[in-house]
Amino acid sequence: MLSKKVTVPVPRITDRKVRKLLLCGPGPCNLWPSVTEALTQPILSPLCDEYFRIMEDIRNGLKYLFQTQTDLVLAISGSGHAGMETVISNLIGPKETMLIARRGIWDERALNMATRYGINAVEVRIPFTTTFNLEQIEDELQKWKPTALFITHGDSSTGTVQNLQGLGNLCHRYGALLIVDTVVSIGGVPFFMDDWGVDAVYASSQKALSGPAGISPVAFSKRAEMKINRRKHQPPFYFDIKMLAQQWNCYGNTRVYHHTMSPPLMWALRRSLQEICTRTLPMFWEQHATITAHFCKRLEQNGFELLIPKAEDRLATVTTVILPKGYDYKEYITYIRDNHNILLFGGLGPTAGKSLRIGIMGVNCTRETADAIVNAMIDALKNLKKCSL
Ligand SMILES: *Cc1c(COP(=O)(O)O)cnc(C)c1O
Repeated sequence: MLSKKVTVPVPRITDRKVRKLLLCGPGPCNLWPSVTEALTQPILSPLCDEYFRIMEDIRNGLKYLFQTQTDLVLAISGSGHAGMETVISNLIGPKETMLIARRGIWDERALNMATRYGINAVEVRIPFTTTFNLEQIEDELQKWKPTALFITHGDSSTGTVQNLQGLGNLCHRYGALLIVDTVVSIGGVPFFMDDWGVDAVYASSQKALSGPAGISPVAFSKRAEMKINRRKHQPPFYFDIKMLAQQWNCYGNTRVYHHTMSPPLMWALRRSLQEICTRTLPMFWEQHATITAHFCKRLEQNGFELLIPKAEDRLATVTTVILPKGYDYKEYITYIRDNHNILLFGGLGPTAGKSLRIGIMGVNCTRETADAIVNAMIDALKNLKKCSL
């Protein structure tokens, strides 16, 4: 009997109900209702016409999202980290130098990744509550002559937004490419890939795009494409942008199979992009700026301190907030989750134990959500005992 050969017993996997929370951390975000629906669209073969039409819609949506005319734009199977890995491993070879403008955890991750590929990763650091100015970066470009500069646009570990204007030109003057992480900024904060001279960018579906994690948009400029075509090294097979460009029909003459992308995730990303196109980017940017400004004002009126001192450095999608003295961050977050059904996050990397990270983005970017969070935060202050100092 075959059942005799089964030595590992049947595990108990029962039905489970999961409470639906209002997800107001730095990601993941709740889904647009239309995206939830899109996830149930039919599974398609990776070689049928409909599959390629979805890819084309996604590519057009991404060109709008990144504000670029480039051909080399597509989405990678995997979360934002897959985009990070694709960009770094395709653009920079072993022993080449990548300069990292470090102010939060994502820059630290980029350093970790680059090091694994034998890239000579060097850092310039600033206090995590601030952002870079062009002079600081120019000094380092001059010193290191790197293949590329890595910088994070919106940093969800610190709640800062980096001004990128003029940075592309500056990098190009020193022969460097400009790589930008826009995972938590794209859609919620103005971003102009072509105008700002950005050479490689990656994002994620799960933040202001209000989709499920697992598919990561990327785009490369002409300059980056030339560097990729000249490269001597081999990036990982799964993330090889030259092969993926063939699968995504980036040049209009190839429809090949590289790997099976997840059709539900493609349907979902397509739908997120559609949601943003209907609203238009300028309107959506404006909405994030207005709602977050309202949120910050109400926080300050109620005795909370914002971690980022300068208003122009504050990110419109994720706000970092310091609790009044004597409150325990973990206890505070748990209270709000259990009593208000809202999920806030604590600090990460440089902000661990020092602040809350509150995301108001995508489908959740409404005045009602902002007010509900502030009200829950005030209630938690009243009801939680301060820990003895
Ligand atoms: C969330 C986040 C990431 C990581 O994205 P995953 O989808 O979790 O892999 C990278 N960069 C920034 C700025 C982020 O906020």
